[in-house]
Amino acid sequence: MTQYINLLAYPAGHSISPAFQQAALDHFGLDARYAALSTAADALGDAVDMLRGEDYLGANVTIPHKESVRRHLDALDSWAETLGAVNTIVKQGDRLIGHNTDAYGLLRALREQAGFQPRGRSVLLLGAGGAARAAAFGLCREGIASLTIANRTLERAVDLVTALGKAGPVLAATSMAVEEIAEAVAGADLVVNATSVGMSHGGAAGESPIDVGLLSPGTVVFDMVYTPIESPLIEAARSVGAVGVSGLWMLIYQGAAAFELWTGQDAPVAIMYEAGRSALLSAARPS
Ligand code: NAP
Repeated sequence: MTQYINLLAYPAGHSISPAFQQAALDHFGLDARYAALSTAADALGDAVDMLRGEDYLGANVTIPHKESVRRHLDALDSWAETLGAVNTIVKQGDRLIGHNTDAYGLLRALREQAGFQPRGRSVLLLGAGGAARAAAFGLCREGIASLTIANRTLERAVDLVTALGKAGPVLAATSMAVEEIAEAVAGADLVVNATSVGMSHGGAAGESPIDVGLLSPGTVVFDMVYTPIESPLIEAARSVGAVGVSGLWMLIYQGAAAFELWTGQDAPVAIMYEAGRSALLSAARPS
């Protein structure tokens, strides 16, 4: 029996998850299809219920359903609970469990692509949306020494620092306006961009979220943006001798964790990365 994994998103057409998840399923010769399903908000409940059928392994969930999907599920894992958002649904018996593998994806990308161990380090986080929340909680759980969160809308950075404080005894977490970050950049072991600045076709395409003249060679710079694969921030970071890691790695590792939850197999990360990279490059090519 062919088994199915759906991507619940709206719209779903731009995602590269089908390309790299199908490559991983095919690598193991599994009789399974990964399909992107454009799912409007009023169709989400039915789309989740469909996963209860015996030919479904689960689903990925992305914008705009990561938060609203929770009410259709039977239980959440601790990351989905902490982050208030689900990016993966796994069927366990007749129950649908919501997971969130974003923090895992970021931490594994930092470890494997930059050799970065968070414990005791200072981090500057740009952004205060869903992706920043995953980064903040993930890095705090790994024992970073300090976290500075800067965001265009300062109140959202303040709210995220408050949420971190409520979650447990963490480090020195502070918020600041983006105009004031020069000192924080200079003092950071790691700079994470969790804004959409630099993303192709976004409102700030071609831009870097910080003045890269502030970066020093020892800094690790992680950009969640992956269109383009090498963002303006990553290119600039590398040009000053800093280590730059593309958000594509986070996307692949969060997907690898989902793949392992659905199939119980070790994800073929190199194959997934190449499939994801090719899909992005062919989408960027003028038709
Ligand atoms: P979100 O919840 O909508 O948050 C967007 C963030 O970007 C907010 O902090 C927002 O600031 C900031 N922002 C947007 N436009 C800006 C501009 N012109 N100047 C300054 N700041 C701006 O989105 P999200 O889900 O957190 O995603 C953020 C980015 O991470 C996106 O590019 C997304 O594709 C990427 N992402 C990547 C992965 C991955 O696996 N690599 C995973 C998740 C997300 P305000 O609060 O002021 O609006």
